[in-house]
Amino acid sequence: MKIGFIGLGIMGSRMAANLLKGEHELFVHNRTKSKATDLLKNGAIWAETPAEVSQQVEVLFTMLENPTVVEEVALGEHGFLAAMKEDSIWIDCSTVNPSFSIKMAKKSKVQNVRFLDAPVSGSKQPAAEASLLFLVGGEKEVLDKVHPLFDLMGQKAVHLGENGKGSAMKLMINQQLGQAVLAFSESVSLGIALGFDKKMAIEVLLNTPVTAPILNVFRSRFEENNFEANFPLKHLQKDLELFTETAYENNKATPLTNTAKEVYALAKQKGQGDLDFTSIFKYLNE
Ligand code: NAP
Repeated sequence: MKIGFIGLGIMGSRMAANLLKGEHELFVHNRTKSKATDLLKNGAIWAETPAEVSQQVEVLFTMLENPTVVEEVALGEHGFLAAMKEDSIWIDCSTVNPSFSIKMAKKSKVQNVRFLDAPVSGSKQPAAEASLLFLVGGEKEVLDKVHPLFDLMGQKAVHLGENGKGSAMKLMINQQLGQAVLAFSESVSLGIALGFDKKMAIEVLLNTPVTAPILNVFRSRFEENNFEANFPLKHLQKDLELFTETAYENNKATPLTNTAKEVYALAKQKGQGDLDFTSIFKYLNE
């Protein structure tokens, strides 16, 4: 099958590498070409523009920073959507808001393109190890058709309903992720101020049922102050922003998320946007 992949950042480059293992023809594009070097060495084909990718493929994946970027790459100059083949499939894996996914599904329909929102749960390592969880919104029949491609990149693809439902579930997951890390960081930060040894405080908290299990995965980052980006803080702050925008659109109040979002915004403002989101720990401890 001819497949396209646009957006070769931390996640996209690893997902595309796994797609190559399926012996498909893979056409790739990224704003910064150097990030495609390894993929091109391994058989991927470079396309100069997003439209050059979509002209050639039956299925197109995008893994881009945020809704504004997805819209620009899809609909801007040399955008891919207008160039897609009739009846081809666009799968957007970027974390965006549900109303944006619904808008992209409508734009796709006008072009006779079928659209899935399929953001992922899992970070850099699961992307490399092909153990991502895909959260899929859109027609089940379309998902069934592309399931073998999801199998190359992940452990599971779950169908959550119509377009927008994949994006909605992704934001619900990251809202909890952001708050869990923030709450833990605040607690350890006070513990240190009270005279506890950092490692001891972390050890005790991680062994209580009140601490979210995911915090165990991040333990060494807190202990060793290693905040090299797996999931950049600016993206987590974006996800909390999209969560609160979605709540506004649906007449729901989200007081905790609004507060958490602003703490991450302060860390970003201080220059931590490209560090891992768990560096909120560093922000609160300095
Ligand atoms: P990343 O490394 O920052 O990659 C972002 C991608 O968007 C790159 O391909 C980048 O191109 C492209 N991009 C940014 N601005 C652009 C513009 N103005 N025009 C064209 N392309 C542009 O981020 P990532 O971690 O791979 O995340 C990608 C998406 O997945 C985000 O929506 C994120 O929230 C989501 N996500 C991330 C993780 C994670 O753990 N990292 C996990 C799940 C979901 P350049 O290479 O040229 O900058």
